[in-house]
Amino acid sequence: MAQVATVPNDLEPYWMPFTANRAFKARPRFVSGAKDMHYFTPDGRKLLDGAAGLWCTNAGHNRDPIVKAIQAQAGQLDYAPAFQFSHPQAFELASRIAALAPGDLDHVFFCNSGSEAVDTALKIALAYHNVRGNASRVRMIGRERGYHGVGFGGIAVGGIVNNRKHFGALLAGVHHLSHTYNRAEQAFSVGEPEWGAHLADELERIVALHDASTIAAVIVEPMAGSTGVLAAPKGYLQKLRAICDKYGILLIFDEVITGFGRLGYAFAAERYGVVPDLITFAKGITSGSVPMGGVLARKGIYDAFMQGPEHVVELFHGYTYSAHPLACAAGLATLDLYREEKLFERARALEPKWSEAAMALKGLPNVLDIRTIGLTVGIDLASKPDGVGKRGFEAMDRAFHEQDMTIRAVGDTLALSPPLIVSEAQIDEMFGKLAKVIKAVA
Ligand code: PMP
Repeated sequence: MAQVATVPNDLEPYWMPFTANRAFKARPRFVSGAKDMHYFTPDGRKLLDGAAGLWCTNAGHNRDPIVKAIQAQAGQLDYAPAFQFSHPQAFELASRIAALAPGDLDHVFFCNSGSEAVDTALKIALAYHNVRGNASRVRMIGRERGYHGVGFGGIAVGGIVNNRKHFGALLAGVHHLSHTYNRAEQAFSVGEPEWGAHLADELERIVALHDASTIAAVIVEPMAGSTGVLAAPKGYLQKLRAICDKYGILLIFDEVITGFGRLGYAFAAERYGVVPDLITFAKGITSGSVPMGGVLARKGIYDAFMQGPEHVVELFHGYTYSAHPLACAAGLATLDLYREEKLFERARALEPKWSEAAMALKGLPNVLDIRTIGLTVGIDLASKPDGVGKRGFEAMDRAFHEQDMTIRAVGDTLALSPPLIVSEAQIDEMFGKLAKVIKAVA
């Protein structure tokens, strides 16, 4: 199904996000079509998608049921006001997501991206303490190397210096736990690393310094994808949960990447056996087809807001496109596909094969570490003497141009996360191509 499209002659006006614009415009990487596990380029090449777009097309690309659901919805109801009015699919989708969620996370607030989901969750946490008379609980705890999107809340709790340093004073009252990655202790880990649970005790120190009465929430990714596939160690999230419970602090899992099957479960919370108070999601809910994000909240959190006169808005927050009809239609069709094709179970079943194929790259030139969990892998390459990130960039570019494959590069770490429909043969193909790329950038 190769699709041919013309390439634009003027690349200048588009200011690309999170992209080296000059390098891209000098040597662009275009895709113009997609189906299942593949992208198609304007010049007729077929690329294996090693990254599920940006960790999002979990059901594969352009799946017929999703495409048809979006088309039908667009012909039926283009838009419904998100405030004061709604449409039936919004409620149906919320019920379906709640049914997949762990514990008593049974209410869903919709937005349009992971960044909006994070800022929504932080605002719900603050407002929750407020409505319960604990207005002094304003501090947020994030983590080093955490990625929580690009809203002002998200970059403040996030732990990536480049995402923070040019953007002013950020939110006040944010503290960061250490990240849990330690190459000496965890190198070549498969699944949850054994080492690192004790680092959760830092939360006790922060509580001791600032007092629990000033702390609103802790936000963590069960697996930090954007900073190189760093899975929470065994027992770490349990410890955070216990400390948060002890002091009345809300625990937020940012599952924008891990939600909807990436680690073999609807949510990573289930894999880790920990029930957080709020879960952010995006990406996989529509398999990347229409922008959508959201926050799952425990019953007790929703109930805390449902006080006071009935005609008064309980939470002063929302987006024009919250629960957009096209996104809801896409979301419902995507959840159907996940269920019918048992894609979360499939990811779980493929994990041993995936990690074995990934670990076979050990010993290739410059490979310092390989980490896998679920259908993800992070591969650290040694940096070139003339600059951090150069080897990673070159690997990503060569994968596209020479090996017909898309991968992610964050600095000198290569990250893969294929659609969950990937076959065993495609896993072999992917790591075969990757091995060639790694050798080529040696
Ligand atoms: N949180 C996490 C954990 C993410 O990985 C991402 C995006 N990769 C975001 C939030 C932000 O999502 P978006 O780009 O949709 O705003």
